Amino acid sequence: MDLISIVVPCYNEQEALPEFYKEIRKVAKAMDYVRFEFIFVDDGSKDKTLSMLKLLHKKDSRARFISFSRNFGKEAGMLAGLKAAKGDYVAIMDADLQDPPSLLPEMYELVKSGKYDCAATRRTTRKGEPPIRSFFARMFYRLINKMSDAEIVDGARDFRLMRRKMVDAILSMEEYNRFSKGIFGWVGFKTKWLEYVNVERVAGETKWSFWKLFKYSIEGILAFSTTPLYISSVMGFVVCLITFVLACFYAIKALVFGDPTAGFPTIICIVLFLGGIQLIGIGVLGMYLSKTYLETKKRPNYIVRETEEDMITKE
Ligand code: UDP
Ligand code: MG
Repeated sequence: MDLISIVVPCYNEQEALPEFYKEIRKVAKAMDYVRFEFIFVDDGSKDKTLSMLKLLHKKDSRARFISFSRNFGKEAGMLAGLKAAKGDYVAIMDADLQDPPSLLPEMYELVKSGKYDCAATRRTTRKGEPPIRSFFARMFYRLINKMSDAEIVDGARDFRLMRRKMVDAILSMEEYNRFSKGIFGWVGFKTKWLEYVNVERVAGETKWSFWKLFKYSIEGILAFSTTPLYISSVMGFVVCLITFVLACFYAIKALVFGDPTAGFPTIICIVLFLGGIQLIGIGVLGMYLSKTYLETKKRPNYIVRETEEDMITKE
């Protein structure tokens, strides 16, 4: 019998976890032709998530958990879960039931059939989200797809079921700055996209503020494209060209018509403009350099405090 590992990153999910477990258990029961393991990754939650996970493990040995020493972010949670997964097939799901577990049987059929290596999901609407957030999200996907060669699908969720080969490929990417939406696309493999209408969170609230999302999108661009560096070089080149033409123009003008000194505002504007462009260029360079800096430190993506195998505090 095949083993399916379900990886669930959880950060302060005490309200949503019971609902989630109830639903996933139902689906697991219906799919009695496969075995399941649930890997809950407690991403340094400050509420009762961890103690709930411990209780769950006692009740149901299929429920495993990994608990971080602090909050490391969802990317780290997914990585830890994928590393720990032993399944022939691995799925990633949010704990808030925004990823409907009822899709699992279909996803498993698709991948099992051998036609696809991965069944991924994308939501077709962004209902329940503030309009500006949707607007910026759409802009981001347009931009990053122009700039990077990894295909990053608009509205794609992290909810997907993958075959072992693909999971191993993802784990072989050892970069520190992980942008999963890009990594999934970059490794390739045959992916079937299932679409569904956006579901709102069952309980608790989203952990993503607008600012966090904005920073995340910049991370994504830095991790999967070097186009900004290229743009700043091209910009520099174009400005030099314009300056050269202008210089010739003024030289000839001075020779032919004499030189009444004027144009102070023009000079100020040009100086400020060039200063701005230079700062942008240096900033872009700095962002890439800082990423390289973090990458060379080779810090671990997360630190595990305890797992179900070594429960420190018995509850
Ligand atoms: N999450 C996490 N670490 C974090 C933030 C979020 O593990 O630092 C988990 C969270 O528990 C949930 C999933 O990532 O299972 C998605 O988070 P959320 O629902 O807040 O994001 P949204 O669905 O609003 O994009
Ligand atoms: Mg959510």
